Amino acid sequence: MSRPTDGIRRAVFQGSLRRRDCSHLDRISVTAVAGTPECGACRDEGTRTVHLRMCLTCGTVACCDSSPTKHARRHFAQTGHPLIRSVEPGEEWLWCYPDRAYLTGLPSGDDPR
Ligand SMILES: [Zn+2]
Ligand SMILES: [Zn+2]
Ligand SMILES: [Zn+2]
Repeated sequence: MSRPTDGIRRAVFQGSLRRRDCSHLDRISVTAVAGTPECGACRDEGTRTVHLRMCLTCGTVACCDSSPTKHARRHFAQTGHPLIRSVEPGEEWLWCYPDRAYLTGLPSGDDPR
């Protein structure tokens, strides 16, 4: 079972992400989705979700920039929470809106530690 959650914390702790151009790693407080991820705004508004992203500051799940309503971007605009991660299966990367930084290099989620 993949555990990207721990991978993010480990990568931040080990500094393997710090070489990248993002100064917001200390804003990461939530790395795991509780329950089945869905875009709550899409559910409420009846709009279509393409891919799901999660805010790493507050844990809000929202839809990506390929989705018609771009709720993740709206969440950033409204809250200033800088970092999101993909919660799509097999995708392990973070995106920082203010830095426009694409952060990869997360350790494999298969590591049992
Ligand atoms: Zn940043
Ligand atoms: Zn949405
Ligand atoms: Zn947030």
